[in-house]
Amino acid sequence: MSVLHTIRLKALRTHTDLWILFTWVVLTFCTPAISYGNEPKDIFATSVILGVNPLSLYKKSEIDPDNSYNGPIIDAHNHLVHDAFSEFLVLSDKLGIKKIIVMGRPGSYRKWHTSTFANLPPKGPKISVLCSPDFIGYSHDGDLGKAQDELRIVERKLASKECIGIGEVGPIHHNKELNNPTQSGRHQGTIILDLGDWAIDRGIKLAHEYRVPIVFHIEPTFRPYEIDDTDLVKNFYKTKCRDYPAATFVLAHNGMMKPIDLEELFLYCPNLVSDIKMPRSRGEAWKFCTLEIVADRDAILQKRWSDLISKYPKRFMYGPDWKMGVRVRHSNFERRIKFNRKVRLGISALSKETQHLLMYKNAIRIYKLDMNK
Ligand SMILES: [Zn+2]
Ligand SMILES: [Zn+2]
Repeated sequence: MSVLHTIRLKALRTHTDLWILFTWVVLTFCTPAISYGNEPKDIFATSVILGVNPLSLYKKSEIDPDNSYNGPIIDAHNHLVHDAFSEFLVLSDKLGIKKIIVMGRPGSYRKWHTSTFANLPPKGPKISVLCSPDFIGYSHDGDLGKAQDELRIVERKLASKECIGIGEVGPIHHNKELNNPTQSGRHQGTIILDLGDWAIDRGIKLAHEYRVPIVFHIEPTFRPYEIDDTDLVKNFYKTKCRDYPAATFVLAHNGMMKPIDLEELFLYCPNLVSDIKMPRSRGEAWKFCTLEIVADRDAILQKRWSDLISKYPKRFMYGPDWKMGVRVRHSNFERRIKFNRKVRLGISALSKETQHLLMYKNAIRIYKLDMNK
């Protein structure tokens, strides 16, 4: 009996040793892959094993508090609504924001009361407005008459310079809440419009004719449904950027694609740039965790992204995607001031010159902003 017991104990011990060995193998062979930082396959597999958000596993750029960005900011991607205008003016001084580019959200055609274009568009020297992207939503819903009406308004406003571009055009927008394992947040409306749709082409044509930027939100992948349309989306941009060379294609949120894919587009399309955002909340970090977003909640650029920004310093703008007046938390002064400080530190791996281009100068050039107004 006691012999059997000893054998059993031994077996158990061996078993435990095997587990230790297994864990060691996993850690040893997965960690180097993570520290090179560019292989999402490893990142996602490891994030599942460890039960953490994949964003926490990318190699971060080296931050340097002495090289924190302390210059002026242009917020190149903002969804301010009219009601929050005066609040914004107070806040912008505290944040060091000199100007914002305000635009409609891909889904705001469904929620007119929280649209940038409800009531009067925000006005003032600190605010430049893009033309409404609602023609996309109406075309998606099959309401061609309304889509055509919207496009006519876009054309009229571009002609009278009431707006300085078009956006945020969002023909592919999934319910990213499904990325969040706890699914605590609100669900997002889905828009899936064929990239060959006439309304998209008509919008780009207007941007070309009036030589203005058009901001695109196109999600190339959607992990919960195992969708990967990266090649399709890249081909869309490649075709359109050559068909309409006078339009500037602004890919929102780093195009939500890998640095290598975005670089391929930079090289193919001289008229293509990107705005970047860092996730501001736990929920947002989950929503964007499979969309190659540039940072985790600490706002520290991943190394793969600080490398690409340093390589193409004129192709990026800062576009934090605030929805002030739409979401309560986006209007919280303290949160925003704290987050703004994080971002200034989070880009400190970049040279001073690149920081200044990213946070300020590129937006002036791309949107042809008059900073004396
Ligand atoms: Zn977006
Ligand atoms: Zn946006």
